Amino acid sequence: MDYLAGLNPSQRGAVEQTQGPVMIVAGAGSGKTRVITYRVAHLIRQGVDPFNILVLTFTNKAAKEMRERIMKVVGSEAKNIWMGTFHSVFARILRSEAELIGYPRNFTIYDTDDTKSLLRAILKEMNLDDKLYNANHVYGRISSAKNNLISPQEYNKNEAIMAEDRSNGRPQLGEIYMTYAQRCYRAGAMDFDDLLFKTNVLLNKHPDTLHKYQHQFKYLMVDEYQDTNFSQYLIVKRLAAVHENICVVGDDAQSIYAFRGANIQNILNFQKDYPDVQVFKLEQNYRSTKMIVNAANSIIANNKNQLEKNVFSDNEEGEKIKVSRAFSDNEEGKIVAEAITQEKALKSLNYKDFAILYRTNAQSRSLEEALRKLNVPYKLYGGTSFYQRKEIKDLIAYFRMTYNPNDEEALKRVINYPRRGIGDTTIERLMVAADKNNYRLWDVVANAGSFLDGRSATAVVNFATMIQSFQAAAKTNTAFDTAMHIAQHSGILKSLYEDKSVEGLSRYENIQELLNGIKEFSEREDLEEKGLDIFLQDVALLTNDDNDKDPNADTVSLMTIHASKGLEFTEVFIVGMEENLFPSQLSLNSRSELEEERRLFYVAVTRAEKKLHISYATSRYRWGSLNNCEPSRFLDELNPSCLELDFKPRVAASQGESFQSERVAWQREESFSKPKPKVVKTTSILPKAHVPTPGFAPSDTSTLQVGMEVEHERFGFGKVVNLEGNRPDIKATIFFKELGQKQLLLKFAKLRIV
Ligand code: ATP
Ligand code: MG
Repeated sequence: MDYLAGLNPSQRGAVEQTQGPVMIVAGAGSGKTRVITYRVAHLIRQGVDPFNILVLTFTNKAAKEMRERIMKVVGSEAKNIWMGTFHSVFARILRSEAELIGYPRNFTIYDTDDTKSLLRAILKEMNLDDKLYNANHVYGRISSAKNNLISPQEYNKNEAIMAEDRSNGRPQLGEIYMTYAQRCYRAGAMDFDDLLFKTNVLLNKHPDTLHKYQHQFKYLMVDEYQDTNFSQYLIVKRLAAVHENICVVGDDAQSIYAFRGANIQNILNFQKDYPDVQVFKLEQNYRSTKMIVNAANSIIANNKNQLEKNVFSDNEEGEKIKVSRAFSDNEEGKIVAEAITQEKALKSLNYKDFAILYRTNAQSRSLEEALRKLNVPYKLYGGTSFYQRKEIKDLIAYFRMTYNPNDEEALKRVINYPRRGIGDTTIERLMVAADKNNYRLWDVVANAGSFLDGRSATAVVNFATMIQSFQAAAKTNTAFDTAMHIAQHSGILKSLYEDKSVEGLSRYENIQELLNGIKEFSEREDLEEKGLDIFLQDVALLTNDDNDKDPNADTVSLMTIHASKGLEFTEVFIVGMEENLFPSQLSLNSRSELEEERRLFYVAVTRAEKKLHISYATSRYRWGSLNNCEPSRFLDELNPSCLELDFKPRVAASQGESFQSERVAWQREESFSKPKPKVVKTTSILPKAHVPTPGFAPSDTSTLQVGMEVEHERFGFGKVVNLEGNRPDIKATIFFKELGQKQLLLKFAKLRIV
């Protein structure tokens, strides 16, 4: 039992209590995730078949890390555990059961962009004002209906809901929801919420299937249970109903997804659902210094709605929390970048020991700029990820059509890309024909001769024939060969190759990178299924944290606080601590929303192990104009004895009143002499095109080594930070002065050693 030695008595108690319902509600960093990990290892050591264990995590990354740890204790058996996010696990189950609920096994997963684009099309058809019926708002409404398991039919029958929509001036939401659901069905597509909604439908309507999975999953565990919504809650409850070996862990103080329908009540009701539940308390925080734990406790004490918890740390006292004030967002970026450089040198840390956390993705721009200026390598999580880029989505749309030609969003995306003479009017006519006859769009496209004539009919028929040829290729080829075949024969590679602009080149390289990724995927030994369709599903379910292609790269992490849940870093910077930004302007209307913002702050603070830095700017560009900013009220709530101010308060004040005084001073300045906004010049983040050194000639890169300075024809000067792979496929990671880090395949790169 030596593997259990790394647990304290309460943690060990929870690990060894393998039978019956178990709940662990405990503070941040107290080892909840660790308990789940050890519990799974323990079950397997006791002889439980990994196939009988289901573990639901919040991110794919968490699942991957857990699996790796369990592997260390039980070996490769760990591969067979059912483990992943709700979405990925139930997408997998739906793949094998889809036909029972009228979907093809190869159903497409619509991402947020697909959903919004479909909604916009529907709004247009219905002639609705897209300001009143804003696609984001409509999406939110439909999503919340689905997460509460309200079908379109029920929605339209529900008097209370319809009355609410009418009083909000949006009486047609029910009809939009109905049409949206029909369109998704016709396209053989499910959106993210459907993956849970349809799982509920499946388990509800098909008792045999429910029994099958109830018997399969003898042991269930759920991490971050405080953030489950009703739909997820019910799936778990149904699956656990036979064996009742269910263990959930969570922290009510870290519930931050109410806006997505998460319900803190799920954790509070667990005891009602399972009266004989065993409850374990974990109070010791192993992650952070005493200073950080004290600060975190002082924040959460301001929330009225919370379970009583006493979190303490036995770790060192630690440094005080450093609070910095900047006059602009750009200066804030500079302060952070410089602090990282200094701390790294002073404490011999790596870049990957640092994280910068912010409330909204838009804040990353000024930080990125500052980091680039100091040559600090960083990785941005969320935002525009690799798979969100246009060229990548275009090629992926071809892949999607190959497996599910009914996928209308994919079809619309590529039917005339690259251009093949199919104009908007033709596409419109195809869609009208589909709607009028209640045909699937693909059936109309494949039989275009019956609906169109002349040249446009020929062009559409040729397109359909091409997709059919891809389907044939996919039947016999590996994922990589299929992908390569499609990239070539769709014309995408050629059209990008012919575009010689800097952007064109970079798009071409991105496609290369995608193909490299698929090659690696098709050669993976740990996977049984490695078709292109499985790759597609993985891509569709990537969460913000999963852009991490190389988790060991030494880079500073930049992410929203939401994305940082469950993670830990030696030093953390929380930036933009200003009123109307954090807490967000949208949260100021009700106590419950403000409390959720406070929990978010608590999550941010508790990510830090050794040192926490907090900063705010007194002016910031938002929505294109410069605004003065007031320090966040949350700063006042931090225990003042934990803070070290990096600046002189504007008003001499005893410690502890600093931010209040700051605010008073701010208000006074505001009312007496409204300071003229300092116009901070924002420089474009798009690099200027590099003008190659006169006489630039690519030189032989066979002698290239890490550390060498190079010049790229278009990207400019940079330094080689890594080389990997074998000839002729050597990949170089180069940190360019202007552009930051890039990976290039040497055989294509126009490089010169300087
Ligand atoms: P969060 O609420 O942020 O998700 P958590 O409760 O899941 O946190 P873990 O991530 O499991 O906490 O643990 C926090 C850190 O403390 C991890 O680095 C973990 O390895 C370490 N830790 C937990 N328990 C122990 C222990 N008994 N001995 C040593 N280290 C521990
Ligand atoms: Mg955790």
